[in-house]
Amino acid sequence: MKKDFYEILGISKNADAAEIKKAYRKSALKYHPDKNPGDKEAEENFKLAAEAYEVLSDPSKKAKYDQYGHQAFDGSGGFGGGHGGMNMDDIFSQFGDIFGGGFGGFGGGGGGPRRAKGSNLRIKVKLTLEEIANGVEKKVKVKRKVQAKGVTYKTCSTCNGQGQVMRVTNTILGRMQSASTCPTCGGSGQILDKRPSEADAQGMILEDETVSIKIPAGVVDGMQLKVSNKGNDAPGNSVPGDLIVAIEELEHEFLKREGENIHFDLYISFPEAVLGVSKDIEAINGKVRIKLEEGIQSGKILRLKGKGIPSINGYGSGDLLVHVNVWTPKTLNKEQKQFFENALNDEHFVPSPEKSEKSFFEKVKDMFS
Ligand SMILES: [Zn+2]
Repeated sequence: MKKDFYEILGISKNADAAEIKKAYRKSALKYHPDKNPGDKEAEENFKLAAEAYEVLSDPSKKAKYDQYGHQAFDGSGGFGGGHGGMNMDDIFSQFGDIFGGGFGGFGGGGGGPRRAKGSNLRIKVKLTLEEIANGVEKKVKVKRKVQAKGVTYKTCSTCNGQGQVMRVTNTILGRMQSASTCPTCGGSGQILDKRPSEADAQGMILEDETVSIKIPAGVVDGMQLKVSNKGNDAPGNSVPGDLIVAIEELEHEFLKREGENIHFDLYISFPEAVLGVSKDIEAINGKVRIKLEEGIQSGKILRLKGKGIPSINGYGSGDLLVHVNVWTPKTLNKEQKQFFENALNDEHFVPSPEKSEKSFFEKVKDMFS
């Protein structure tokens, strides 16, 4: 059974925002890992308090919790089943201000600057329907900003490598201390020391790199894939940004994609419709032979199961839908014309759709249901 958030912080359900904050600050300081090195139970309590505070300090989350209890945060998002949802870094980045100047971070000196992250790069990749159906590995050339060879960085003296500067301001509520990103180093805690002449002011150069991107089968036009750490690098002790790959689907010559299904318009001649015929369809991965029975009607849709696009989630594939179109001859020779004139009043040529031959509208309705 999960402990009640109010109980964890030792407050009543009527506690106001100030009381909640005060109670959290008290437990956080009591169980702070710097005060209780190596004490697992204290660490657990520290996390529990942060979790309780995260919910109770947010009016909308608090309202949910008051109404539904822990259930409100089970499942997606929230805190899942356990209380391992938050790690120490999360806690310090979210509630660091609660601790004031006394405790910078976790683990005695571990609370230095966050590693700066470079900016993301964006590219477009055009894919054929075949590539989308089968998945593909694409090699793309990108121009990335990287640290030049021989560049060195040193600790920023404005913030002493902390990446943040503390500011004390006098307000009507008293002296307030707040941390802000160091204006000199931009938060990285380091500034340029030496740079080769070809590097820019931050010691960076542009470099061509070939990046290989694995694209899974079933991607959709407009979808974005992320290749971690293949964006621009940043100066100093940093991690590169990401490469964002936008998928663009090229139009196919004669196949039309609709979600995981593919549509194909098949044209057959009037005699073929009357006599029946076998046809080879150019499906996505080669030919598929289909047999049309004699007397097939124009507008019939044949569904070839699993011959469409695989689902991006890996659950099966869509279908290939073959739309049968009977081509009516536009010119006839004299004998043919005579034949059809005779047929005008022939009972065999009088339309007599059976109930099983659904109308176009019913077929469309079926396809989307
Ligand atoms: Zn600095």
